[in-house]
Amino acid sequence: MNLILIPSKLGETFEITGEIPPSVLALEDDLVRSKGPVWYTLSGFKTEEFIEVKGEIGTSFDFRCGRCGEWIPGEIKKSDFQTILEAPFPESIDLTPQIREDILIDLPFAPTCQLDGEYRCPVTGETHPPSPEKTKKSLGNEEVWKALEQLKPKE
Ligand SMILES: [Zn+2]
Repeated sequence: MNLILIPSKLGETFEITGEIPPSVLALEDDLVRSKGPVWYTLSGFKTEEFIEVKGEIGTSFDFRCGRCGEWIPGEIKKSDFQTILEAPFPESIDLTPQIREDILIDLPFAPTCQLDGEYRCPVTGETHPPSPEKTKKSLGNEEVWKALEQLKPKE
């Protein structure tokens, strides 16, 4: 429970910031586990009929690399969190379910570590070069270069 008091004033924005313990995400499995708290920096706007809340939420976690099986640190940051509550309003609200859902939706589906320019894993130091045999057979020269371009870490 992470209760936020609703101000009584209408037509004014109010700020909501805070942290929720990572345990609310219940992220403890073989592929991902939460690390830091879930933080939020939101602003709300209240009218007689509704309260609109929007802003940034995020958290940090470790995920299991699909390539080498090691734990890799990851981060989620969403700047487009938004939720609308309709009247009648209670004295305080708990946005934990909405924030939790938004974070879980954003988890990487099949995460892998980011290889460096020499196809080296940053965690294990092992190299994972793309198989030249395969690419030669199935792709033309130009397409191979395009494929290699995509393998480069995006910075
Ligand atoms: Zn790796």
